[in-house]
Amino acid sequence: MSLPQFKLLRPHALADAVGYLAQYAGNIRVLAGGTDLIPSMRQKLFEPEYVLDLHGIKELHGIRVQENGGVEVGALNALSAIEKSTYLREHFSVLAEAAATVASPVIRNMGTIGGNICLDTRCLWYNQSLAWRKGCGFCIKKDGDLCHVAPGGTKCWAAFSGDTPPALLCLNAEIEIASAKGARRMGLRDFYTGDGQNYRKLLPNELVTRVFLPAESADYRGVYRKLRVRGSIDYPLAGVAVAMKRSNGHVADARIAMTAVNPAPVLVKSAGEMLAGKAVDEALAEAAGDIAARTAKPLTTSALTPEYRREMIRVFTKRAVLAAWN
Ligand SMILES: Cc1cc2nc3c(=O)[nH]c(=O)nc-3n(C[C@H](O)[C@H](O)[C@H](O)COP(=O)(O)OP(=O)(O)OC[C@H]3O[C@@H](n4cnc5c(N)ncnc54)[C@H](O)[C@@H]3O)c2cc1C
Ligand code: SF4
Repeated sequence: MSLPQFKLLRPHALADAVGYLAQYAGNIRVLAGGTDLIPSMRQKLFEPEYVLDLHGIKELHGIRVQENGGVEVGALNALSAIEKSTYLREHFSVLAEAAATVASPVIRNMGTIGGNICLDTRCLWYNQSLAWRKGCGFCIKKDGDLCHVAPGGTKCWAAFSGDTPPALLCLNAEIEIASAKGARRMGLRDFYTGDGQNYRKLLPNELVTRVFLPAESADYRGVYRKLRVRGSIDYPLAGVAVAMKRSNGHVADARIAMTAVNPAPVLVKSAGEMLAGKAVDEALAEAAGDIAARTAKPLTTSALTPEYRREMIRVFTKRAVLAAWN
């Protein structure tokens, strides 16, 4: 599959990058590592006239520890840098663990944290070549007006399938979004819409520049569990992140989030709250798993059945809660 023709823009300053986005809004795509964008362009899912390569923008790189122990992570950091950062492994382990499960080492060297947050939603009927999609009459997410997964509906249920966002939700992470008009900051939990088609709250003239990990989320015990077909290189088909703080033999605070089973990564607030103030045992971990499984809404968007993926959310939540406790 060949790449469509496009003009490559390679700014060295953020001001120039947002200038290009303002000038060509609607006809331009941001390129970070390109590990998802380029295959998608080959499949003609995106055919922008301009591609904006962020690599030359120095201020989007780097992991900076702040005085209070919080961290500012540039959107262009490779996932391997997150995975290998000693500070993140020690103090924000759920993020380092989730980053280490993405794809393969080569892709983690290319793929960035910003790209992982902005990753397009996935579906068996969508991540296909143009000829394949044409043969099926297209679908709501691209070029069509029906959904093969939920026929009769008007909503796209493609699953958000990034590994780091559930970990970031557990850490109460915030992101910075920049445009030619300036920068705004928002909680990651407010970034996703829950709609598989327009899955993120990002205008065509905006890009994600930084991720902030608050000091209050440091030193939680972190665990990430992931279901995939090929252990060596694959997107999650269900994923669970848990961050937990213990105090005097009970849970002081716990946060649980899932990925790949809804059109957005989801913080399962009630499951985390249920653990607070208690000592974890098998029954309590299982109860948290039941809540997470009820919140998951997997459909036939991937190679594994929705029933199996939901069940694995229950199992992984239980295992992750027990692992974080122990
Ligand atoms: C074989 C294979 C296996 C994979 N397995 C996994 C996996 O297990 N888990 C997983 O999470 N992902 C997986 N991926 C997807 C991808 O590699 C990662 O999600 C990676 O983190 C994407 O980052 P990137 O920098 O390459 O993004 P890109 O491909 O450059 O961009 C992805 C999307 O985000 C947008 N974007 C990128 N950066 C920004 C920004 N700063 N601001 C605004 N928009 C932006 C792009 O326009 C594009 O729409 C896999 C990909 C492949 C090819
Ligand atoms: S969920 Fe439906 S509309 Fe969305 S990509 Fe799949 S088939 Fe298309």
